[in-house]
Amino acid sequence: LPEQEAFDIEYWLLEEAKLQRMPKPKALAGRVALITGGAGGIGLATARRLASEGACVVICDIDEAALAEADAGLAKAFGRDAVASLPVDVTREETVIRLFKEAAVAFGGLDILVSNAGIASSAPVEDTSLALWQRNMDILSTGYFLVSREAFRLMKHQARGGAMVFIASKNAIVASPGAAAYCTAKASEVHLARCLALEGAPLGIRVNVVNPDAVLRGSKIWTGEWRSQRAEAYKVGENDLEEIYRQRSMLKLGVYPEDIAEGVYFFASDLSSKSTGNILNVDAGHAPSFTR
Ligand code: NAD
Repeated sequence: LPEQEAFDIEYWLLEEAKLQRMPKPKALAGRVALITGGAGGIGLATARRLASEGACVVICDIDEAALAEADAGLAKAFGRDAVASLPVDVTREETVIRLFKEAAVAFGGLDILVSNAGIASSAPVEDTSLALWQRNMDILSTGYFLVSREAFRLMKHQARGGAMVFIASKNAIVASPGAAAYCTAKASEVHLARCLALEGAPLGIRVNVVNPDAVLRGSKIWTGEWRSQRAEAYKVGENDLEEIYRQRSMLKLGVYPEDIAEGVYFFASDLSSKSTGNILNVDAGHAPSFTR
């Protein structure tokens, strides 16, 4: 190579190396994310993941003690300015409306909604009382409707649109024994997401779904009544459940809150700017095998 050309190449390589060393702007810097059910489990893991990418996170939950603890932990890790927490019962319309107004005023808009607050409680269909059926519908189906409607009302005014991510469940597409109320409520969340995706697309609002399989650690659902209900439905001991969940998946792996949070990050960020109305199953390949 002529001397000047060799020098140019060497100089260009040095410049490239310098650029590589420079800190990159975080993917969600300047964005505001509201996460329902953010006091624990999948919601808290998601808040951590989004905050680690530079988002300001507003966690909301009905459990005020757990919410305060989660808020303190997040503020310690990411700074007080990056975190807020607001109590909410997602089944109460007036509270949900107030929540979104407060969050939007505090942070100047809303870029990401993660609708996640939920329960898992069910029974064989013959033993399902109307109250149990209604509880599932109120928190899962109606709760998701109320928060996504308020998010929609905010996001439609923003030139930048917004991204909504619903945490539904593998049970939204795969029937599970003794869980008709839960499965039906979860299925409605998926269809609500599709309808919102259709209405939101012209406004730049994307809506996608993450379907977890049973989360084998760090969730109140896993340690609560759901665990004994599942053991009863599968006619196994509670201690055998974890291995059953692993073995029935194609990959023979357990699923954890951080795995779900990774899926949420994908749909919340520009990585998925061409995706709406979609489902991502984070279930180690359980749902596509269509076993219970
Ligand atoms: P979790 O119980 O640890 O977290 C759920 C959170 O929602 C709790 O902090 C709870 O206080 C809150 N919540 C419940 N009712 C509420 C209400 N009315 N208003 C506001 N907050 C309320 O369980 P998780 O596993 O983190 O669950 C998160 C979501 O994931 C739920 O929608 C659940 O159905 C779904 N999911 C969980 C699993 C699992 O195995 N854990 C599997 C599939 C889907």
